[in-house]
This record gives sequence, C-alpha cells and structure tokens, in this order.
Amino acid sequence: MAAHDAWALICRLFAGGTPVLRVTLSPRETVALAILGKAVKPTMMDQSFVLCPHCQQHRAQVWGDGRGGRMCRCPDCGPVAVEVNDGAALALDEEWLRTKMRLALDIESRDGIDDLGGGVWRLGDARRSPVLLARDLTRVLHEPALLDRVRVAGRDIRVITPRPSTTRGSPFGAGIEWLVLEERFMLYGGAISFIATSPSATPAVADPATPVNGPFSADFKWATLPDVQATPIQFTDGQSKVLGALWSFKGETATAERIMQRAGLDSAKPSDLFKIKTKDKGKPEPAAQHAAYGALVVTQQRAGLYAMPCAAAGQEVAMT
Ligand SMILES: [Zn+2]
Repeated sequence: MAAHDAWALICRLFAGGTPVLRVTLSPRETVALAILGKAVKPTMMDQSFVLCPHCQQHRAQVWGDGRGGRMCRCPDCGPVAVEVNDGAALALDEEWLRTKMRLALDIESRDGIDDLGGGVWRLGDARRSPVLLARDLTRVLHEPALLDRVRVAGRDIRVITPRPSTTRGSPFGAGIEWLVLEERFMLYGGAISFIATSPSATPAVADPATPVNGPFSADFKWATLPDVQATPIQFTDGQSKVLGALWSFKGETATAERIMQRAGLDSAKPSDLFKIKTKDKGKPEPAAQHAAYGALVVTQQRAGLYAMPCAAAGQEVAMT
C-alpha cells in the first residue's frame, strides 16, 4: 500500500509542478515518504506572502502582530490572522522522474531528453515511437504543433500525462496512445515499472461510463445526467453500491436499513454517502455526486423511505 501511496504522491507532485508544504501531507502520504528516497527533495517555501485565508483571493504580505502571532493585510478583508508554518516543503526531483520513466519504457539512453517547454518533455523513443511526458493533458490537446514536432512517419506517439479531472476515454485520435501516469506506471523497488497490459490501451474497448442501467453504467460507477453535468459523473465505490442497491428496488420505496443492507455498507442512510465533506467544499466531483443523488433519489424524510423512480422506468424499457 505504501508503494501505491508513494506513486500517487509522485504523480500529484508532478501534476502540480510546485513544492508542497510538509504540513499539508496526509498521514498516508507522510508514511509513503519513507520509501520515496531520492524522488523527492526537501525545500523551503517562502512564507513572507500568503493567500488571504479569509477570501483566498489576494496574496498579502505577512507581518508579526507584536504578540507572537502573524497576520496579513488583505486589500479586501483588512488584517487577517494567518497560521504560518515553518515553510518546510517537498519538491519532486523531476530529473529523477524522467530518467526512471525512460528506464520503465526501455528508452535507449543515447538520445537525450528534450525539454519542449511548458511542462512537456520528449523522453525519447521507445521501440522507435516517440514518447512525450506532459504535466497537463490540456496543454498537449491545445497545442497540436507539439505532436507535429516529434512525429515520426509511420509511428505512433505515446503521450503520458497525469489523469485530468474531466477527460475520459481517449482524447486523441488514431496514431496517438495516451498513457495515464497514475494508472499505467507504478513504483516498484525504487524504480518505475510500466504496466503494459491494460484494457484502456485498446482503443476498441467500450467506454466504462456508457449508460446501461438507465442513466448508470453497468457497475453504477458512472451516471450520465446532462442536467447535472455535461460529462458523465463518476461515483466512489460506496456511492455506486448505494446507487446499485436503490436501483434493485425497481422504483419501489424501501427503508434506509434495507437499502444499506443490500449495499453492504455500515452507514445509516443512503444520503450519508453523498454528503459533501467540509474539506471537499468547492470541489467539482463531490458537488456533482451530491447533485446526482438529489436528482435521482426521492426521499420521504419523516418515514425514512427512499426510492429511485428512474429504476422503474428502466425495468419497463428492459422488458420491451
Ligand atoms: Zn482577503
């Protein structure tokens, strides 16, 4: 598990492209640090300016308040107390990452790594196919000229990027293979390994989000609800179990207890899984999951009964 967490942290640091404060690491990430070794370097972050903790809109200089505390003077909010930490931060050794990625893909070492600018690197050729590593998929999509610069006649281009929050399936056409950094590579024994076999590597594979059960995918991990979100909404494991359980009642009402029993979960009621946690306020995924639940589930609060009307329609459609 620690190796998995460590790789996730490497991917997060690469995607962000900036150091992160040590105090912001999760407990699991802190454990994972122990096996990261040379992949991360300690660094310091400048603490003389902070984002105003009140409005999060302005960067403001930090002052001592004369009583041992610290405050910033925000142009909108005025003086705001700030918690200043020691500035101890971690940065990914990106040179390490690029070198290990080359090894993972058997890229011949005689051709060097080209920095194409803006967080895109040509790692070299793997079996004579050019390989690009990019911090951000959007940048590659918005600048097709980048691909033209590395294209070799008759060869596919491999583009490796961290998983973006919105894109699914393959964003590229034929001739370009997209490899998601988090999914197609792993940390193993201090090196990076390429996971060669993946169903998503086959362009012919069905989109996992394809609606099969009403608006839901076959595994209830996705829902297509254009009124809630233009792209399919992805659910957590727990949420998909609850949605699958609700679906199984075919639109009939059921008690929270029966639904949660069928879902195999310990929570008291279905909505528990869809609450937006304080730490997730403002994040698009939990907001979409919450909105999807609201759109799909009818609750009789006082009676403690729940129903999913679209499941009734789904059964009718299935029968015709
Ligand atoms: Zn402010």
